[in-house]
Amino acid sequence: WEMRVADLSDGQRIVHLIDQTGHDAAERMRVDFVANASHELRTPLASILGFIETLSDEAGEDADIRARFLKVMFDEARRMQRLVEDLISLSRIEAEKYRLPAQPVAMDDLVQDVWEELLDSGSTRARDIGCDIADELPPVAGDQVQLSQMLHNLIGNAMKYGRADTPVRVSLDRDGAMLRLVVADRGEGIAAGHIPRLTERFYRVDAGRSRTIGGTGLGLAIVKHIVERHRGRLDIASEVGVGTTVTVRLPIKGASKVISEGAVTK
Ligand code: ADP
Repeated sequence: WEMRVADLSDGQRIVHLIDQTGHDAAERMRVDFVANASHELRTPLASILGFIETLSDEAGEDADIRARFLKVMFDEARRMQRLVEDLISLSRIEAEKYRLPAQPVAMDDLVQDVWEELLDSGSTRARDIGCDIADELPPVAGDQVQLSQMLHNLIGNAMKYGRADTPVRVSLDRDGAMLRLVVADRGEGIAAGHIPRLTERFYRVDAGRSRTIGGTGLGLAIVKHIVERHRGRLDIASEVGVGTTVTVRLPIKGASKVISEGAVTK
């Protein structure tokens, strides 16, 4: 609560009590976000600077050491690059929050493309993998670049957090006026207490593990914002030792218009 006091000329006093709960929470989130982002960037930057310093000494004359340090510096710089790219994506998506995306996007082709891209890039360690796309699906109203990013993040997570010998399954079908995407892995799973917080920026169940496999901690926050912008739904179900299933529902192009017109004529 914020208290504002105004003294009136007749000696009376007016006290305003203003509810600051929403404002404070938003402000705290913003401060936390800047602090987290700075911290995430500072760590690889400090490491790169340290290696440059060492390479400037005699150590830099040894070809083996030089090659090894350059590799570490490259990896750290890549990590910073991924983080900056995710930060830019997040702020773009947020800036467009109120603009409903309206291009027709063929999700069946997009899922197929992203799936093949991820397989080709070798980022899959899962042995038994499959992608099951229903026939003749209608397009959704969307933003193709953002939907592609959503698919990369979700399928990428299933491949990253799945154990080497466990299956990853992707499916796309129709569920009434929505398309339903399901990405399921049989990986380590996530304890119930963590699930509601997964879409927070920089929230990780195991920060060390996320960093070693190249995660930025922003992947699911980006997914959540993309799904919200598309007026869709995101559900995450998981069990430790069993696996994780992420379901996204996106409105079919034109379907919401028909529903709202129907509502008006009733
Ligand atoms: P990251 O870049 O760390 O992968 P995300 O926002 O994509 O960030 O995910 C947040 C955290 O949720 C991850 O650090 C990981 O701990 C957990 N997580 C996400 N997807 C899965 C999954 N399929 N299986 C197990 N844990 C997952």
